[in-house]
Amino acid sequence: MKYSDREYATQILDIDENSLKLAKKYILNGELVAFPTETVYGLGAVATDDDAIGRIYAAKGRPSDNPLIVHVHKDYDADKLVTVEHDYVYKLREAFLPGPLTMVYKSRGVVSKVATCGLDTVGIRVPSSEKAQEFLRYVDVPIAAPSANASKHTSPVTAAHVYEDLCGRLPLILDGGKCVGGIESTVLDVTTETPIILRSGLITADMIRSVVGKCGYSANKPTDKIRAPGMKYRHYCPKCETALFSRADVGKAQALYDFCEKEGKRVYFMCDEGVADKIKGNKLLLGKTAEEIAFNLYDKLHEAENVADMLIAFEVETGSAIDESIMNRLTKACK
Ligand code: AMP
Ligand code: MG
Repeated sequence: MKYSDREYATQILDIDENSLKLAKKYILNGELVAFPTETVYGLGAVATDDDAIGRIYAAKGRPSDNPLIVHVHKDYDADKLVTVEHDYVYKLREAFLPGPLTMVYKSRGVVSKVATCGLDTVGIRVPSSEKAQEFLRYVDVPIAAPSANASKHTSPVTAAHVYEDLCGRLPLILDGGKCVGGIESTVLDVTTETPIILRSGLITADMIRSVVGKCGYSANKPTDKIRAPGMKYRHYCPKCETALFSRADVGKAQALYDFCEKEGKRVYFMCDEGVADKIKGNKLLLGKTAEEIAFNLYDKLHEAENVADMLIAFEVETGSAIDESIMNRLTKACK
């Protein structure tokens, strides 16, 4: 039977001995299990099993040229899966792992080619979330996992978000409450002399520079070659209309709000505290600090699609280096 023909009665269970036992049974049987991490919920399958990995792409509707990140527990020897080519990697591991940093290494070919999309590299992540660690330690096999949402939709930060998107497409969601980080890990290419950020996240270029003295950014002009295949796709979008304004354009944003309201649409603003006082209407508040905003972003985008026909968002500016990572998500969500 093809995966797409299967229908599951998807269970959501708190993480305990019984649910972990069940999760291990499903995982070792080549099935999918969603699990919480400190960033977003992941949709996991055995990283070395081509068929299991194929199920991830089918369940999400993910483009087949967008490779998956492999998750392992703290004591797992990642060097069974990858080759370390530069000594700075050891410093980065020491400084940031476990944590929201995915490093892309030369693969030893153990991880499924379906997961790496035929690339000779593979991204490895060691999540810091205790719940993720419990799951990874219990199953004790490397787990390939993208975010546990339908492709292009807003990433899930609660078990309910996963259920909304993937109900019937997997047997089990492990519920670990709301994710604390809220946006996905930084993806860093460590196959080059200078480590290169392929996707920004909570670990910033300056944090990496402070440990190894150097860090670059991958090309992101539309004409440049894209090195992280996933970055070219539409992503993170809520199921309502969206518009994104700069902080200087509150007047224009208010005019759009008023126009949409007159048309009979349910309209909401989404902004941080620095903008909130300057606009009138329904508001979804993201918070004040960059950390708060990252924590709330996907939750508020999920809320927006339930309450609004039109979401009018504002550029985030807190002065933190994480602003750039937040704007990377928000710009794509509002395309
Ligand atoms: P997601 O699984 O949706 O959180 O996205 C993972 C991100 O990491 C995507 O942007 C992928 O393109 C990127 N990625 C994963 N593996 C690799 C790899 N081997 N080389 C370059 N980018 C990768
Ligand atoms: Mg994703």
